[in-house]
Amino acid sequence: MNASSASFSHVSEQPALMIPVAEGDGIGPEIMSATLAVLKAADPSLTFKKVSVGLKAYESGLMSGIGEDTWEAIDAHKVILKGPITTPQGGGYKSVNVTLRKTLGLYANLRPCVSYHPFVSALQPVMDVVIVRENEEDTYAGIEHRQSDEVYQCLKLITRPGCERIVRYAFEYARAHGRRKVTCMSKDNIMKLTDGLFHKVFDEIALQYPEISSNHMIIDIGTARIASRPTDFDVVVTLNLYGDILSDVAAEVAGSIGLAGSSNIGHDCAMFEAVHGSAPDIAGQDIANPSGLLLSAVMMLVHLGRAKAATDIHNAWLCVLEEGLHTADIYKDGVSQRKLGTRAFADAIIERLGRKPVKMAAVDYPEHEPESLVHPDVSIPAHIPATKTLVGVDVFINWDDSGRNADALGAALESLARPEFRLALITNRGVKVWPNGNPQTLRTDHWRCRFPMIDTRLGTRAISLLLMRLAEAGFDAVKTENLYEFDGVRGYSQAQGE
Ligand code: NAD
Repeated sequence: MNASSASFSHVSEQPALMIPVAEGDGIGPEIMSATLAVLKAADPSLTFKKVSVGLKAYESGLMSGIGEDTWEAIDAHKVILKGPITTPQGGGYKSVNVTLRKTLGLYANLRPCVSYHPFVSALQPVMDVVIVRENEEDTYAGIEHRQSDEVYQCLKLITRPGCERIVRYAFEYARAHGRRKVTCMSKDNIMKLTDGLFHKVFDEIALQYPEISSNHMIIDIGTARIASRPTDFDVVVTLNLYGDILSDVAAEVAGSIGLAGSSNIGHDCAMFEAVHGSAPDIAGQDIANPSGLLLSAVMMLVHLGRAKAATDIHNAWLCVLEEGLHTADIYKDGVSQRKLGTRAFADAIIERLGRKPVKMAAVDYPEHEPESLVHPDVSIPAHIPATKTLVGVDVFINWDDSGRNADALGAALESLARPEFRLALITNRGVKVWPNGNPQTLRTDHWRCRFPMIDTRLGTRAISLLLMRLAEAGFDAVKTENLYEFDGVRGYSQAQGE
């Protein structure tokens, strides 16, 4: 008898529960089929509704890669288990993952990274870190523009409500799961306003959790230390892009990217998916490790209040690991006993449902109401808006004349600035090139020209007048950024070399 069809007698009666599932692309169908077989064996009351997400949806003409059936299913059932998706390169296709996370408001991406040494060979033998990645903001807003022949831009948007929500979530998660420390990682030595806000909000909120220790690290040394000294860390909260990179590093250090599961948590719904991608290099070969998706499904069961099934699956999976039954990505001579394919690995888990590991610590997820553990109160306190004063404008000009001589540009703009403005400086790629630039600084065709207002009562109309004069003089203003003070504090960065 195939192990996947064997009945597991330890299951208590549960009401039927429908879960929308998106198989995904590449290895997605194989690891999803293996995962669903384990879920069904552990809890026969689960049923699955397949929805269309990914390449098939793209090919049917949906630029979002997400079928209407998917939105309807998530709306009805409030969760989705999703396989990895291949985003087609170019052609205006948007990433399904980013669209789902942002449309559904899945603001917290939880990525536990655990080492199973000595049963799974790992770069670090002791590691149990949970990365809480902000999931909606940062450069992942995907707002990009080409502004000149040479220069492309991606906007990094960081908001106070977004920071408050994710940082509070990290502390609430630590409190609910008995974790002792939360580390914030950012790059606020360089990005003082955006990453600086994340760090500031972290410091404010940390004060409200005195029983949990907290610290901040710059993301570069933080990433290095996760790789070299993971026991220094417990929960890490960070911005979207850093969290994406950091969690792949942490997953590899813990053994394999193929082992890492994740949840994406929002107010009304949640999405569960492996950390890894669609691995087209090994698709269709029955060699992919389904563990990342399976552990994501375990997180989903906990989220849905199915603690018993989650505990049984997780313990059976630990049994398989400690017996050395390993997929190719974690197979190692001298450590592993037998190399299993994707489906055989799932069958080995099913055979062990109801058993507890004997060498590794067993898990025991507490029974709780659905969502109460992973859905803490992250409401954002009322905020008194600052007084905002317009004090000038940065005009970005696409200019390629006069041998890119900044003095020539400065001379022309100084006279066009008057009467509402003066020209304070010109930068190229953020570095001051006028007045008194360094000839060694590379000059592209994209110039940021800073015009402080002479009289701050003039308002935005003054900017329109300046832009008209620039246009009439033949300058190509490709973008403007208003310069504001908030309660008298400068709301814009200074130039390098200013
Ligand atoms: P990847 O994670 O798919 O693969 C990286 C390497 O890890 C490959 O060598 C692969 O064989 C291996 N690997 C990944 N998962 C594995 C598993 N379960 N078992 C064994 N080995 C595994 O990353 P990539 O190659 O950079 O991306 C491939 C595609 O996946 C791209 O189209 C990318 O956009 C997409 N992607 C999707 C998601 C998602 O859907 N959440 C996440 C990341 C990447």
